[in-house]
Amino acid sequence: LIQLFLPLNFLGFVYREIRRALTDLENMLGLLTRKPAIVDAPDARPWQLQAAAISFQQVSFRYQAERPILQQLSFQVPSGSKVAIVGASGAGKSTIARLLYRFYELESGQILVDGQDIRQLTLDSLRRAIAIVPQDTVLFNSSIRENIAYANPDASAAEIERAIDLAHLREFINSLPQGDQTQVGERGLKVSGGEKQRIAIARAILKGSPILIFDEATSSLDSQSEQAILSAMREVAKQHTSLVIAHRLSTVTDADQILVLQHGQLIEQGNHQQLLAANGSYARMWRQQAEQQSE
Ligand code: ATP
Repeated sequence: LIQLFLPLNFLGFVYREIRRALTDLENMLGLLTRKPAIVDAPDARPWQLQAAAISFQQVSFRYQAERPILQQLSFQVPSGSKVAIVGASGAGKSTIARLLYRFYELESGQILVDGQDIRQLTLDSLRRAIAIVPQDTVLFNSSIRENIAYANPDASAAEIERAIDLAHLREFINSLPQGDQTQVGERGLKVSGGEKQRIAIARAILKGSPILIFDEATSSLDSQSEQAILSAMREVAKQHTSLVIAHRLSTVTDADQILVLQHGQLIEQGNHQQLLAANGSYARMWRQQAEQQSE
């Protein structure tokens, strides 16, 4: 009997954990309200992955009829580059990530990946090619190693070790009583917001997707933790086409392009130096954040 019970028990565990992971993702993207069914087009084909370049072309979108959120938004994320989106709360930054992941249909315009309209691609191939580092990551009641490895059940031990190093988790793991076997999650060791986000970065590395969306945590982190996340992200961004939703401008000074969004429209675009020189909204936001930090 026990031979029968154990696998069933394990299946129950897997089922619960998968449900939790989905809930986590949905929470992160704010999807528990209104979720239209997005399905594959009848003639959908898998993404013919080339350089993982992204292009938004005249994209308009609204959640509710009376309230436009994105208006005729166009921008490019060239292959291997890092593009950051900044702007006030509610400007539409996370909405851009949700649309790229195809959680909603557009009102008008197109999103292309490698020149292919995402509506013509299978959802599965699209979503496999995009890894998301959410603002807040839920950890399973399991070891920290299993929490990282679940992103790719086929990952080798060497790949897991590499993800731990790239995500700057090595020192943290070494400091734990049972190293990478230490239990985390609700019933385990308490893990800080910054450490959780680095676990999410390690998961994204292991997923091996060519496109990375990084949704920076809004909650303030201590500066050491923020530095660890930043250097982890810089390392990972080198190997990805990355879209960073940023709340702190200090995170994006090295981005190839910074898009400044206001009420769903692009009001400025350029790298950090160019935007400071332009002395517009970005420069104002930069000065404001610098003042807040010195207070
Ligand atoms: P923040 O910096 O606070 O995360 P954001 O720039 O990422 O904000 P979005 O989350 O993209 O902003 O939201 C843009 C606007 O769309 C907001 O006004 C928000 O209230 C609204 N919105 C977001 N999700 C939904 C939804 N599911 N249904 C209706 N309106 C929504």
